[in-house]
Amino acid sequence: VDERPPVFGRLALIGVGLIGSSIARAARERGVVGSIAASARTEATRKRILELDLADEVFATNAEAVKDADLVILCVPVGACGAVAKEIGAELKPGAVVSDVGSVKNTILQDMAPHLPKGVHFIPAHPVAGTEHSGPDAGFAELFDNRWCILTPPPDADPAAVARLTEFWSMLGANVETMDAEHHDMVLAITSHVPHLIAYNIVGTAAHLGEVTQSEVTKFSAGGFRDFTRIAASDPTMWRDVFLHNKEAVLEMLGRFSEDLSVLTRAIRFGDGNTLFDLFTRTRAIRRSIIEIGQETAEPDFGRRPRTKESPAELPRPYSSD
Ligand code: NAP
Repeated sequence: VDERPPVFGRLALIGVGLIGSSIARAARERGVVGSIAASARTEATRKRILELDLADEVFATNAEAVKDADLVILCVPVGACGAVAKEIGAELKPGAVVSDVGSVKNTILQDMAPHLPKGVHFIPAHPVAGTEHSGPDAGFAELFDNRWCILTPPPDADPAAVARLTEFWSMLGANVETMDAEHHDMVLAITSHVPHLIAYNIVGTAAHLGEVTQSEVTKFSAGGFRDFTRIAASDPTMWRDVFLHNKEAVLEMLGRFSEDLSVLTRAIRFGDGNTLFDLFTRTRAIRRSIIEIGQETAEPDFGRRPRTKESPAELPRPYSSD
């Protein structure tokens, strides 16, 4: 049990899906905030927030939710952040910290900052933790444990506010790192955004094949395909917004990816086994280093249990993505 006092009095969560509900659960369990106000655009989500006891008060408008809040976190798709900032700007308490959890940082800064009044501290953030599931039921308190949360404070940010937000995320279990928004977007383009695009693409290609049937693709998926389908099952709205908003960095990394793919294509065409073997040896070492720093399990096949006819279903377990 963390003995530290709450870092913020009142937390307002705008949007309570996978990430928002995980913040609510962890913040409550670990005493990180005094109270939680939440807003959600749909009645179904508002009802579910109360049923799951994720907040003390739930509001239909974002403007009501942020009144008197010491920390406001937007947990909505990246493309919705500008409009939310416009709604809440005039209602924010002076001195409040305003943050978000969006997977892209540069456009969030541009979309939100113009709507926020002087005297509030705007510090964008991105917890690099998630799953392919969505909605308030998908969250869990341990989601951020030993994962990274990247803060991208603007150059003139108040160091004391940055320190409080750092403390908040570390109490939620995360390791916190600070970098500028453009660098964040470049790093995440290669570690998260392009891998998601590749997964969406390969699953799409398999769906369009003529000679190999859909049922064969599904039946023999344990050969590798199914590991892409997990990522390709991620939320369509969230990922549409990521690609629309991190356009430049994704295009840059996709260019490099295509060049490297051409090298492999040539190696296969001309029977150049050394090129293939050398790359596959280097990539194996990269996976080993991810396991060594505790960001992945060393168990074969991601620790999946062997399937039996009696228990064919996979047990749900936290995966890390994004
Ligand atoms: P989610 O489970 O789909 O939840 C999204 C929430 O945003 C829901 O409460 C939804 O409201 C609300 N919402 C959707 N569209 C909206 C709009 N146009 N205006 C206002 N509210 C809207 O999504 P999530 O996975 O928590 O993702 C939220 C944010 O976290 C995104 O910016 C994403 O980039 C970032 N993120 C995601 C992951 C991940 O792996 N999933 C990881 C790190 C960061 P209703 O329920 O009422 O429809």
